[in-house]
Amino acid sequence: MDSLPRYQELVSLDHAHLMHPQHHPSDHQEPLVFERGEGAILWDVQGTRYIDGLSCLWNVNAGHGRRELAEAAARQMEQLAFVNSYAGSSNPPAITLAARVAALAQDSLNTVFFTTGGGESNDTAFKTARFYWALKGRPEKTKIISRINGYHGTTMGATWATELPAFHPRFGPPAPGFLHVPAMDPDALRETIEREGAETVAAIIAEPVQGAGGVYPPPEDYFPRVRRICDDYDVLFIADEVITGFGRLGTFWGLQQWDVVPDMVSFAKGITSGYMPLGGVIFSDEIRNTIYGQPPSVKWMHAFTYSAHAACCAVAHANLDVIEREGLVERAARMAPRLHTRLAGLRDDSFIKEVRGLGMMAGIELKPGAVEGGAGAVIAGLRQRGVFTRYRGDTICLAPPLVIKEEELDELCDAVISTIRDLAAR
Ligand code: PMP
Repeated sequence: MDSLPRYQELVSLDHAHLMHPQHHPSDHQEPLVFERGEGAILWDVQGTRYIDGLSCLWNVNAGHGRRELAEAAARQMEQLAFVNSYAGSSNPPAITLAARVAALAQDSLNTVFFTTGGGESNDTAFKTARFYWALKGRPEKTKIISRINGYHGTTMGATWATELPAFHPRFGPPAPGFLHVPAMDPDALRETIEREGAETVAAIIAEPVQGAGGVYPPPEDYFPRVRRICDDYDVLFIADEVITGFGRLGTFWGLQQWDVVPDMVSFAKGITSGYMPLGGVIFSDEIRNTIYGQPPSVKWMHAFTYSAHAACCAVAHANLDVIEREGLVERAARMAPRLHTRLAGLRDDSFIKEVRGLGMMAGIELKPGAVEGGAGAVIAGLRQRGVFTRYRGDTICLAPPLVIKEEELDELCDAVISTIRDLAAR
């Protein structure tokens, strides 16, 4: 019963001192203050239970409360606070994790650079695409193409690759060399490359399923066609697997859904299930061999202090152990039909524009104006019913932990359906 004063005390300190991602104070009047989690369930400081409808931020794939991940971090930190991983020094968990990720990646992807998150990974990939073409004697190949409605993070490069309009105002001028194409249209990609001149284009980046933009899976033939276009024009293909990597779609990597192999893979989130900040880029053998094959004067001068942090890598190992031991990728494939079948009931409702998704990702798009207050009101209603998730535009996004129990998944879907129906009936 003394949780309320504690809540109020925490919130007033938060209001005074803690600035949040995507900050506006009006969105943060009565924040949820979470304290604890177990599997797909979270509890706030007032003891209220919530189903984690989005794996928090599409990342807690293995679920909350995994003691073995905490122990892996503690064991590693007891040994070593930190060593840099700049050329000339390394550490065992990073070495073995790079080898493990390379073994998990498709055949020609065998070299890993670690970052601490998705935006850093994507900026690394953009810079490396330019570096690679410069090494190939084609320094004019610098443009990065991304897709409308794509989200790639908010570091300087990723901000301008992200094509969600809300992320741009007042952060200009736009970084030069970033172009956007319609998301699901390979012909538009080909036309853009031809119009700009293939000799000026370094890479395209794409999410296998657009996530933060509102959960948009591609048509079946989209990525095979993108791969062919990239081959035709010597354009590198960067797969932004920050959400879709590590089992989310029921395959280990998202692009495995369509049997497509990119030139670089950006990853983050699911590699540690969110327990530690870790991301990275996997490079093709061609890119790696080109970079490694230079004289000592030509160095890839890209770096983060916390690249290959030993404790983050140790936690990633423990997380991959869990994913493998518990078959979480297969579990995602098994649970996905339940998620989509349950939500499909909404399709016939007059206030629904679309219900879509793939694997353990779903988006429920309301017709504009169908619900007073839109998707934001649905999120507020869900909070009242003990569900924590996010929305983009008119779309409610769902991506629960891969460990969610059947009955919890049903509870999540039922809460979403009844909340939307109740609000639409008003
Ligand atoms: N790429 C994708 C596809 C993402 O979903 C995100 C984060 N939601 C990012 C990049 C950025 O990752 P981070 O916030 O770790 O920088």
